Amino acid sequence: MNRPVLLVTGGSRGIGAATAIMAAKRGYDVAVNYQSNADAAAEVVAACEAAGARAVALQGDMASATDIIRVFAEAKAALGPLSHVVNNAGITGKASSLAEADTGVIRACIDVNVTGAILVAREAARALGANAEAKGRAIVNISSAAVTLGSPGEFVWYAASKGAIDSLTIGLAKELAPAGIRVNAVAPGMTETDIHAMSSGEPGRVARIAPTIPLKRVATPDEIAESILFLLSEASAYTTGVILRVAGGR
Ligand code: NAP
Repeated sequence: MNRPVLLVTGGSRGIGAATAIMAAKRGYDVAVNYQSNADAAAEVVAACEAAGARAVALQGDMASATDIIRVFAEAKAALGPLSHVVNNAGITGKASSLAEADTGVIRACIDVNVTGAILVAREAARALGANAEAKGRAIVNISSAAVTLGSPGEFVWYAASKGAIDSLTIGLAKELAPAGIRVNAVAPGMTETDIHAMSSGEPGRVARIAPTIPLKRVATPDEIAESILFLLSEASAYTTGVILRVAGGR
């Protein structure tokens, strides 16, 4: 039997890495995209291979149309036609009020989280659309609980960028449903990854916010990956166009 072939953008660390490794354990072959951290991507690939999957690390900036198209082509060349995509690469930029935010920070976030994510979704639609023989074709976009929280004082531009992911998910789900391709999103709440200290620039962000979450803790990357794997799998065969909030009650 053919194994499903999954591309995870931003698969070298955090939620993407947890998703890639969990998918490998559940029978997927996995293409792990990363931007610059080749060592982290190699570790994820090794963990996928240890789980019995074929896996490959693919460098590419998911804000660049040229890189996105190349990464999809390299994934197919290495592992065969794609059947599943997790559209995960995303950044916040340094936290501040909007009034104090640099234009470059806002543009970089929109370039990756909106333009890049839409281009990844376009390539996913093309790749999965051309692979009609594959069973259970599905795309999972990564949104955020920030869409409804708004992230005031931290990164309202990031919250707005993830609002675009929700609209993308709803529209593309309707476009691709007749072809039998499902499109859903997971909207994580605060999750224990590098994004808070390294990307947002506030090392104490997790400790500050965790007590305000109804479940009184942040998520582990594996807890988010579980929901992503559910939406990739045939367990959710009648679910499309859904934004699944996984945010500890927030
Ligand atoms: P993370 O720990 O900061 O990891 C980011 C991953 O994305 C890394 O693999 C990184 O690659 C890659 N990446 C960043 N920019 C990229 C680009 N331009 N092209 C290709 N890859 C790129 O992030 P995370 O917390 O796991 O977040 C993953 C997704 O979940 C994002 O869309 C984020 O907005 C969303 N999310 C996160 C949280 C949270 O609390 N953590 C909550 C809600 C939503 P390198 O290793 O090469 O740098």
